[in-house]
Amino acid sequence: MEISFTRYRIYRECPWKYRLLFVDGRRIPMTAKASYGLSLHRALEAWLRGGERTLESLFDALKTQWLATGYPDEDAEARAYSKAERVLTRFHGEEESRRTRTVGVEKEFIWNSGAHQVRGMIDRIDQGPDGAYELIDYKTGPGVPSPAEVAKDVQMRFYALGAKRGLGLAPATLTVDCISAGERVSAPYESSSEETLAADIRAAASGIEAGVFAADTGYCARCDFKKDCTYSVAK
Ligand code: SF4
Repeated sequence: MEISFTRYRIYRECPWKYRLLFVDGRRIPMTAKASYGLSLHRALEAWLRGGERTLESLFDALKTQWLATGYPDEDAEARAYSKAERVLTRFHGEEESRRTRTVGVEKEFIWNSGAHQVRGMIDRIDQGPDGAYELIDYKTGPGVPSPAEVAKDVQMRFYALGAKRGLGLAPATLTVDCISAGERVSAPYESSSEETLAADIRAAASGIEAGVFAADTGYCARCDFKKDCTYSVAK
């Protein structure tokens, strides 16, 4: 039994949603927002993996990694593409002032948690001049979290735990890079609740393995299946 962050998150949102997606094979149609975010992630990954750090090479990466799906029409796609170019131009300017060294891009970790394997992919890992590691997650939506929210963010904490247990690397800083908003928000990594998170991941994996998929209607209002799910309270 292998559990990724996405599977863990969805099981914790609603076990029935997990079942619809990963047992019954339901699909969520690609939206313009998701398509735009994925294109930016793919472009940044390709660019960071390549040697050249020019704006031109970043634009080339955007061109080759751009996904045209999910947009209602060509005009909407063209507007999104122009926005991506503006966002990446600003990102490139800020990147030039960074003093850190990138040591991992889309870095995968795997660690054993009892009978289960925990797997994940960290957008980026940087190392500062003092040797301290910074885990970076790119967000492409308009929102910007506070440093306190970054410190508590379950996804960042899941990755920090994975970096420690799967890569043998102790993160000092967690950073959410909100590339659309042009803001980077960092918080020191505080490891005191690691065991609690590890136990919760184990509990979720055990629930999935045992086929425990009870509906949790607290998430219905935000759920992609709210219109046709048998248990939805937000139809
Ligand atoms: S609509 Fe509600 S009960 Fe159904 S899968 Fe979504 S969150 Fe779960």
